Parts: sequence; structure tokens; C-alpha cells
Amino acid sequence: MNASSPEALRRGWCPSTLKPMETGDGWLVRLHPPGAWLTPAQLRRIAALAGQHGSGLVEISARGNMQLRGVTAQSHPELVATLLAERLVDEHEGDGPQRLTLVSPLSNPPRHCEERSDEAIHGAALDGRLDCFASLAMTRSSVKPPSSPAGPGDLIDALALAAEIEARGREVVGLPAKFAVVIDGGGESSLEAFAGDLRMVATAPGRVVIALADRFWFGPLAESEAGAAVAQTMARFAARRAQAPDVLRRMDDLGAAELAALCDWPATEPPPPRPAPRRAGLFALGDHHAALVGLPFGRAEAATLDRLARAAETRGCPEIRLSPWRGIAFRGLSQPDAMVLLDGAAADGLIIRDDDPRLSVQACAGAPACSRAEAPAMTDAAPLSQALEPLLAEGRTLHVSGCVKSCARPAASDLTLVGEGGRYRIVIGGSARDSAVATLDLSALLTRLQPGQDLHARLIAAGRLPGPTA
Ligand code: SF4
Repeated sequence: MNASSPEALRRGWCPSTLKPMETGDGWLVRLHPPGAWLTPAQLRRIAALAGQHGSGLVEISARGNMQLRGVTAQSHPELVATLLAERLVDEHEGDGPQRLTLVSPLSNPPRHCEERSDEAIHGAALDGRLDCFASLAMTRSSVKPPSSPAGPGDLIDALALAAEIEARGREVVGLPAKFAVVIDGGGESSLEAFAGDLRMVATAPGRVVIALADRFWFGPLAESEAGAAVAQTMARFAARRAQAPDVLRRMDDLGAAELAALCDWPATEPPPPRPAPRRAGLFALGDHHAALVGLPFGRAEAATLDRLARAAETRGCPEIRLSPWRGIAFRGLSQPDAMVLLDGAAADGLIIRDDDPRLSVQACAGAPACSRAEAPAMTDAAPLSQALEPLLAEGRTLHVSGCVKSCARPAASDLTLVGEGGRYRIVIGGSARDSAVATLDLSALLTRLQPGQDLHARLIAAGRLPGPTA
């Protein structure tokens, strides 16, 4: 197996377990645990493999997938064989998405959905449509908490829908690797911040509306019809894309009329916006609790994860879900046990509070880890997040990119810093490809972002920071 270098990558390509990506610090191997779901013992096993076959650095991506860094051509075959043999990953052949759906790590089936959840997952496994969910279904049965109370306000069983859509999606040939279906249960854990080709939002118990490219909304549909409707839309998109695969990379590449032609349901209004969700801390999920821990800039040492997983195991945590807020949710805990887990995570420098400024920063690996990097983005992200704490506390976003490729965040941010020859191009309210207002080294940047300095004033003038009160 050869790794693909960044230079060799065509747009839309994604690394995976079988297709690693070459970076400045070795190969990056992306793992897709079945259902984005692990036990503490499995997390400890992955941490051990990260140290044994890679550099010991583990990342969680903004799609809730895990990445091991520093893997080599020599260590990769044994790593893959172990991951597959122990069913730690759900890998399949082909160029389509390895993981199609994005679900909140705090999703829980409402009571009226509990039976359907297990039936959907077991059914998918038993009829062979979704081999990966066989192990998931068995494991869920054996480790399920004593009761499965409603999640934080979810109106549908998002997990069962995700299992169904993953199964149906594998029968659709021609979907782009980055194709994403966001499944939002309609509760407190809103996924509005995550882009999706298709977005399903629960608006009433058992009812959903669906968006294509976040522009064309249709429905409402019964929850039981939604999987088939999404599958039909995906199949039509794949057929349309087959006519121009290099032009149609995402649903958003289609015009309004073409989007409307992809589904048979009536158009509807988008659901009203919901408050931003908490991304870290303690969560009550009915009669049990979850500890949601963020990894600073999405990265942690394997030894840190091992300590965390060991603590979770000791407290009988049955279920871990990977979080698109670049963290890990430990579920099925008592409140005291969840608090102890959070305290331990904080002592290890991990994120346990939603107001931690590091949660609002996207940073790629940068130099020296990435061979294309022109600045040490990940290293510089820590002092920058401290200097910009007032901006980040306002819910604003900072993106630190080692080069113009923008792996961590293609979209615009309130402040985007783009590595160029050891300094940073500074873009206010735009993406890495937009015009810069200045190019500075880190020291000058930190100085000129302080109150009273010119960059601080420009952020206020652009409406990205609150101005002085009269
Ligand atoms: S954006 Fe970052 S990770 Fe991506 S190629 Fe550039 S330096 Fe490397």
C-alpha cells in the first residue's frame, strides 16, 4: 500500500485506513470506528496501536473520525490487519464515503423509538446490508445502560436513522468521498454549524424536514420515510453526477431547479434557527450522564487518551462516541463518575468547558508535521487562542492554516491566518483564499491584536469584535 501525497491528491479525496495520506510526520491513517462508537477498552487499544505503529499522536476530525499520525510504510500493513481483525474500523472498498452520516455524540433515542432503534440496527446487520453494524448491534445489546432515557430533547432516533442511511448509502455508486448527511435530532445538541450535502432536522416527534445543500428544503416526512427519501435523493444525485464527475463534487454544485428535481416531496420552509449547543462538559441524558471532553485543536497524545479511557473503564462507562466538536463523549455514567472523569481530563490539559477558547479555533497540523506547511499552525494556535480569548468568547471563530490549502476549515472564519513563508497572511471575515489585510510573523501578530492596536481596531470595524462602550 502506498500513501498518497498531498500534492498527488485530487480535490475531494479523503484518507482512510486502507488509503493513508503522506504528511510531514509520516502517514496519516484515518479510522472510522463502526457507527462512530467505541468502548473504553477499544479506545485504549487504539491508543496502544497509535504508539506502536505511529508517533503516538491521535486526532479527532471535524466529522468525528479518528486519525493516527506518524505511521510508516513498514508499520502500516500490520496496523491495518490488527484494526480490521479486531473490528476497530468499518472500512470498505471504493471511492465513496467511508462515513456518510454525522450525528450528535449526545443523541439518544426518545422512548417511543427504542424498539425501532434496535430493530433497525439488527435488521441492517442480519440482512447483510451493513456488516459493520453486526458488531455494533451485538455490543450495544450487551453494554446498554440499564435504561435508555430520552436524550437532551431529541425528537427522533437519529442513531437508527444514521444506521439505515449508512446501509442504504453503500448501495449507491458514485457518491463523492466527502458527501455528508447531517442528522439533527432536533434537541439541544444542534448540528447547524456543520455543513452537509443533505441535512435532516427533526421538527416534531417522529417528523423531519430535509435540506439539499442547505438551500432547498422539503418535507415534512414521517421519520419512518426519511431513510428511503434520502436514499432516493442520493441515488439521483449520483446519477446526475455521473454525467460530469469533475464538475459536480458536492450537492452545492447544482442549481436550484436541479436540486428540486432530486426529490419528489413538496418544498417547505427551513426550520427556525436554534441556540448554539454546548460542546464540552457534563450532560444529563435522562437518568444517566455524559462527560464530553474536547481535544485541544483536535489532538492528544495516545498516553493521555489511554489514561482517560482507563478512568472511564474503571467507572463502568459502557459507550464512547466521537464528537464532531473534536472530542470524545463518555456516556452512560452517573453524575459523580462523569465529574471525576472531567476533572481528570482537565488535569491532562483537555477541554471540559464550553467557554474554553480553544473550542473555537480550527488549526491544521502545520509545520513540521505537514510537508506543505509554511508556518507551525498547530503550535501557534495555543498562544493565538489566548490572545484572542475576548473574540472567541463572543462565539467568533479563528482558523490557523499552515498553508492556503485550508485542510482544517475551507469555509470563512471571523479571523483566518494563512501560513506563508514563515509568517501569516491575515484575512478578516473570509477564507484562506481571500485578500489579506497584512502579512506578519507571530510576534507582531500577537502584539497588533491587542486592544488599542491596529488589527484589534480592524476587527471591531468589521463587526468581529465588540467596540468600546460609550
Ligand atoms: S492546510 Fe495545513 S495540513 Fe493542509 S496542506 Fe496546508 S499545512 Fe498541510
